[in-house]
Amino acid sequence: MSENSVLEMVNKGLFLPLMEEFYTIQGEGFHKGTAAYFIRVGGCDVGCHWCDVKESWNAETHPPTDIDHIVENAAKYSDTIVVTGGEPLTWDMGPLTEKLKARNLKTHIETSGAYILTGTWDWICLSPKKKKLPVGRIYDEAHELKVIVYNKHDLIFAEEQAAQTNKDCILYLQPEWSIREKVTPIIVEYVMKNPKWKVSLQTHKYLNIP
Ligand code: SF4
Repeated sequence: MSENSVLEMVNKGLFLPLMEEFYTIQGEGFHKGTAAYFIRVGGCDVGCHWCDVKESWNAETHPPTDIDHIVENAAKYSDTIVVTGGEPLTWDMGPLTEKLKARNLKTHIETSGAYILTGTWDWICLSPKKKKLPVGRIYDEAHELKVIVYNKHDLIFAEEQAAQTNKDCILYLQPEWSIREKVTPIIVEYVMKNPKWKVSLQTHKYLNIP
């Protein structure tokens, strides 16, 4: 296939720049502790300075991969598929999720919401970032809001974001990993004073799994 044809397939969401895929335990948020197959798609221009997957940012460093191949692999391992990144909504998620749903797989996404929501999802984890705020209807669709806390101002940001979500959206505050020892006590105190929030920890990192 020529380079132009591949690019066209990526633009249509029929190929995706695949960074990695792995079967593991979901470590964060509502589904923590549950086995799931992760598809990490390359490409993100949000630019969080504390990002722990900076290698994902440049989509060109990740091979454009046929979504049929991705779905085939995923179906071998789990009935729950988590699409993450990078920022998966950089790409049209419609074709991938259509094929996952055709196999009766549950589709979960972890997104900053910086781009228009595409795809059909059983679970949407919205993790908004100050540098590129969510767009469109995603606040109405999100099942959980997960705000990463790096400093105290992030708690104000968290409240601003929560005010825009739907009434059933579950609210999480999660310490940024590299400064977890400093920020976790701040979150704990805040959640006890504001119990509509819950604490989310990156338990996969404590378990030393991907
Ligand atoms: S949105 Fe996610 S992948 Fe993109 S820079 Fe921020 S933390 Fe990294």
